[in-house]
Amino acid sequence: MRRHRRAKIVATVGPASSSPEMLKALLEAGVDTFRLNFSHGTQSDHARIHAAIRKLEQEVNRPIGILLDLQGPKIRVGTLRDGKITVAAGETIRFVLSGSDGDRGAIPLPHREIFAAVAPGHDLLIDDGRVRVRVTGLGDDFIEAKVIVGGTISNHKGVNLPGTVLDLSPLTTKDRLDLEFGLKLGVDWVALSFVQKPSDIIEARSLIGDRAGLMAKIEKPAALERIDDIIQLCDAIMVARGDLGVEIPHEDVPGRQKELVRACRLAVKPVIVATQMLDSMVAAPTPTRAEVSDVATAIYDGADAVMLSAESATGRYPQEAVEMMDRIIRSTEQHKMYRSIVEATQPGEEQTAPHAVATAAADLASVVHAKAIVAYTSSGTTAARVARKRPSLPILVITPSREVSRRLCLLWGAHSVLSDNVRSYEEMVERATAFALAEQFASSRDLLVVVAGIPFGQAGTTNNLRVVSLP
Ligand code: PGA
Ligand code: MN
Repeated sequence: MRRHRRAKIVATVGPASSSPEMLKALLEAGVDTFRLNFSHGTQSDHARIHAAIRKLEQEVNRPIGILLDLQGPKIRVGTLRDGKITVAAGETIRFVLSGSDGDRGAIPLPHREIFAAVAPGHDLLIDDGRVRVRVTGLGDDFIEAKVIVGGTISNHKGVNLPGTVLDLSPLTTKDRLDLEFGLKLGVDWVALSFVQKPSDIIEARSLIGDRAGLMAKIEKPAALERIDDIIQLCDAIMVARGDLGVEIPHEDVPGRQKELVRACRLAVKPVIVATQMLDSMVAAPTPTRAEVSDVATAIYDGADAVMLSAESATGRYPQEAVEMMDRIIRSTEQHKMYRSIVEATQPGEEQTAPHAVATAAADLASVVHAKAIVAYTSSGTTAARVARKRPSLPILVITPSREVSRRLCLLWGAHSVLSDNVRSYEEMVERATAFALAEQFASSRDLLVVVAGIPFGQAGTTNNLRVVSLP
């Protein structure tokens, strides 16, 4: 099963897509990595889906990525006395830590950290930003605020606090339980929601270790302020435009998307562009022109992957949405302006041997008209360095690690195959040749460029380059 495109597709699994038949249909339509969203569903639902994906993986004999997305410290309104309350612009309202304070209009906000961190002038956004209020005063257990944009607030609606850094662990008690559960299942990636600061990544890493790749979802302005450190500390990022678009003005999201994709390409970390990409396909079999353009833009930006959320989890047309995404990516990548746009946004190279060797591999392969670049990698970094160049040739990744082969299902252009450990350079070249033929990347007399780190198994080295002529 070979994809005829370089960017990857991530699809969220939910009630519309969790049957083994539907998972198979979505895989065949183009999904490279499935996302299990732990904001919804039970652990046993997710375990069942995980098992079905692993079974499918065996059936098709290709690695499939599984991404566990933790709910994170999502803030919600508590239970209102009448189930909902309507507030009007200009009105002053009160939030209380618990109960309703004997005050008919008080809105319970059962998160003590908010009362400690919020300050006058900060905004609270309720229900995806539909209602906006500004803090005017506060005490230990109440917040007074003026309504800027009115509307109805109902039970358990989400609350975003864009200007406030909360003293919150990025992992709630539920997240910690879900994380252990998911790591035992054997997920490949763990996504952390509402990351605020670099130490959030350190905290999560101390629990995850190297059992899975760690992805930071960028959906808070505080995370944007510390983005370079966050990118250095994690293994991938998600441009989580749903919450990000609530926390920062809509019109700032596209520019931030471009910055984030660029920063990840520079740092050699995969980046997913996510949320509402084909949103109208939740209810209709075809997308809007603007949505098609949005997916294409992410591809022109050079994103590693694009993601479906409700479209594949709860929508009426999950398979059509994946097929549409696949078609948009292929068409964009084949457009005559694609190469020049992607190359124009190529980050400057680092002056280090591993990067220079990876870059040379891509250049050499194109000069000698090789049919593929073969990256032999134990940790995946050699492959990521080559992919960063966004070469026009296919990248065949050979790795002895099943975990790495699965994680690379997020990486731009990587087609990975699993191989036994090799003991010698000659053996590695033999494998490269055999896989290139078997996976139909090349045929007799073609050239390959093989890039590797030697000694084998030492993560992080990329120091060897060779042109191999097929017999
Ligand atoms: P979510 O994250 O779907 O878990 O909210 C993505 C986003 O906010 O865009
Ligand atoms: Mn989110």
